[in-house]
Amino acid sequence: MTERTLSIIKPDAVARGLIGEILRKFESAGLKIVAAKLASLSREQAQAFYEVHRERPFYSSLTEYMSSGPILVSVLEGGDAISKNREIMGATDPAKAAPGTIRQQWGQDVEKNAVHGSDGPETAAREITFFFRPNEIHSR
Ligand code: UDP
Ligand code: MG
Repeated sequence: MTERTLSIIKPDAVARGLIGEILRKFESAGLKIVAAKLASLSREQAQAFYEVHRERPFYSSLTEYMSSGPILVSVLEGGDAISKNREIMGATDPAKAAPGTIRQQWGQDVEKNAVHGSDGPETAAREITFFFRPNEIHSR
């Protein structure tokens, strides 16, 4: 089934010049980039985006990190885009991520793990709306 998912290249990966290599992985896997932009999150915006994790011990550090510098947000479209993107990303903890995944190659630790990807259809819809207006998404 054709789906859309939200991807974020996180501040540490943008700072290290990894945008091109990470987008290449998505395109190589057949996912289409149908929307993309650089963004900078305020602390409040990062807190709202990660609202679901508010009670977790890492929430404060995570939202500080996610608001520490520019991010590259994109919408990926394709067959099973949500799970396909999660596969390409690898496990949350780079130390446990499979060989060849983004997080195994470029994640620094369980927090600074290079990328975000939506984890299900409802989250994807919410997260895409968080960053993009409908007329900023270009299916092709
Ligand atoms: N995170 C963290 N410590 C943890 C678990 C998660 O700092 O023990 C951060 C990490 O950046 C992760 C994000 O919080 O990507 C969201 O966590 P989630 O469990 O949703 O992992 P993901 O869906 O990103 O794999
Ligand atoms: Mg998640």
